[in-house]
This record gives sequence, structure tokens and C-alpha cells, in this order.
Amino acid sequence: MNNERKSKKVPLTGMTKSEFEQMCVDYDEPEFRGRQLFHWIYAQKERDIQEMDNLPKKFRETLMKKYRVPSLEIAESSTSPSLKTTKYLFKISTGEKIESVLMEDGGRITVCLSTQVGCALGCTFCATAKMGFQKNLTVGEIVDQFLQLQNASKHRVTNVVFMGMGEPFLNYDRVIKAAELLNHSEGVHLGSGKITISTAGVVSKIIRFADEGWKFKLAISLNGTNDKNRSEIMPINKKHSINDLISAACYYHDKSKSFITFEYVLIRDVTDSMTDARRLKILLKDIPCKVNVIPYNSFDDSYQRPDKNRITKFLDELNSASFTVTVRWSRGTDINAGCGQLSVMGGSVT
Ligand code: SAH
Repeated sequence: MNNERKSKKVPLTGMTKSEFEQMCVDYDEPEFRGRQLFHWIYAQKERDIQEMDNLPKKFRETLMKKYRVPSLEIAESSTSPSLKTTKYLFKISTGEKIESVLMEDGGRITVCLSTQVGCALGCTFCATAKMGFQKNLTVGEIVDQFLQLQNASKHRVTNVVFMGMGEPFLNYDRVIKAAELLNHSEGVHLGSGKITISTAGVVSKIIRFADEGWKFKLAISLNGTNDKNRSEIMPINKKHSINDLISAACYYHDKSKSFITFEYVLIRDVTDSMTDARRLKILLKDIPCKVNVIPYNSFDDSYQRPDKNRITKFLDELNSASFTVTVRWSRGTDINAGCGQLSVMGGSVT
């Protein structure tokens, strides 16, 4: 693998079916070989061109001179003592590191994918924000996280969430292309309803997502119930106010008829007051949605998770809400693989 990286071979993961077909035609091979390649990479999840034995040996040799399958190298992995959550650290070809998480919960196997190295949004409660923004991941680097985690899992992955490092809607085109590849019926074939894209609230992209009619699920990280408080912890709110965000969410729902998930991180003395709970009910009363309450996961001393009592009180107040409420007791917090705990500093898994 190291040699492959040094030789600058082009990764095949991330290429679409038509790109494979065109590539085969360019090599004077029949177009259907492109479909075979597509199938090998995404359905069979084969990592070695040599093993793709329905392709002519000579063609495989030609491909191997210029291409490799992986976009990423696994650098490290750590599994929680319960064995339910594994965090993977990947190295990309330019040297940076990213993290992905595989979670098993009964029959539900979820992978959480990163979309950027670091993040530009500066949410004060998120570990990834501390890295600053470094770069957008390529389609191959996004999809290869899935392929490698699927190969590592004993079970078929049932759900994908774009909730790892980065802001998916600030790498919009590539994230959508990656989601389409995961959804493709001749490849990974994961239902569009099993793929969730989570945004901190990039309003223009929510509108675009709605206009383009994508069937992937949308999640919006709300985390605040008035502009003053939300702006303090999510600087993006200074650009797109809560009102703008709620209007965009309504627009999305009108177009897609799809339920939105609002994520709400409960941080002690910051987002967990009864006033917040009451305002949340009012804010979302007209939107068909679900609210996912995420008790804060700590990574330094800046904020704390509210105690159980306080969380219960907040949830009780939401009992009378028009929306369904679920609580995400993040898995993998013991290995810092919970929501908002993903960060890579100086090459080690933090
Ligand atoms: N940028 C995207 C996706 C990455 S964050 C977004 O903001 O949606 C994924 C989720 O983790 C978001 O809902 C975010 O609010 C939440 N999160 C971030 N830091 C957290 C922390 N320390 N504890 C719990 N949840 C956190």
C-alpha cells in the first residue's frame, strides 16, 4: 500500500459507472467491462485488481500499472469494550488523517462518514472544529470509508450517516456523488432512506438539496432556540438565522414531503433550560419532523453534559411537543467516537 501511495496510482473508488465505461472504451475494451469494474468495486468490494477474474488478464495488468483500488489507508482502529463501536483512523494520500465510526446496535449497523478534513464552521462544542478546516475529501475518500468499514464488519451495513468530521453541505457536490454511489442498485445498493446527510444549517444548500429532489434523508443540527444563544455556539447562525433555517426546512419539507430530523445537543447551562425546551416546541410546531436529543459528549473541560435528572426534565417538557423525540446516547464515547468527538491532532486518535 505504501508503495502504491508513493507511486501515485489513481484510486478506482469514487468513480461512477459511466466513468468506468468511458475508461474501458478509452482502453479499447468493450463498454460492459466498465459495468464489471463497477460491480467489483462497489458490490463485491474487491480491493485487488488482480482478483477481478472476469476481466482479461492483460487488461488487469494494464489497469494495475496506473490504478489502485483504495483511496484510503487504515492507520489505526479502536473498538469499545462493548465491541459495539469501532473507530477507524484513515490516512489520505496527501498525509492528512480522518476518522469514521462503525456502530452495531441490534440489527442496525451504521457507519458514520467524514466529509472534510477538519471543519470551517467553528461550533464551540465540537472537537472537529478545533482542527480548523484543512480540506474537502474526494468522492473516493468518502466512499472508501464505507467500503473499508463494510469489509471490516461481519454484518451488512444498514445505514450511513454523514455526521463525521466536516460539514457535508460545504462539500456538497462530492457528498451527493458519494451518496449516489452508495445508493446505486448495481453497487452498494443502500436505500436512499438509509442515507442521512446532516448539516449545521447551510441554508443555500438545503434549498438546493430540496430543488434537486434528492431522496436522501436530511438532518439539521439546531442546538439552540434563539439567535443569541445559537450564534454563541454555532457561528454559522450569524450568517443564517434560526428563522432562515426554519424557512429552508419548511421549503425542503414542502418539496420533498420528507420528515426532517433536528439534532439538539444538550449542553449543561447552555442549551438545556426549560425555556429552551418550550421554545423548541414552538419553533418546530409546524414542521413534520423528529427531534434527536444528543446529550453532550465531552472532549475537554469547556462544557459539560447535564445530569440525568436535568435531561429527563428537558425530555418531559417535550412530551407535549408535536414532534417525536428520540435520545441519542452516543455510542463509543469511551473511545471518543461519539458525536462531535472526532478529531485528529498530530496524527493520533484523540
Ligand atoms: N457538520 C454537520 C455534521 C457533523 S456534526 C452537522 O453539524 O450536522 C454531527 C452531529 O454531532 C451534529 O448534530 C452536532 O451538533 C453533533 N455534535 C457535535 N459536537 C458534539 C458533542 N461534543 N457532543 C454531542 N454532539 C455533538
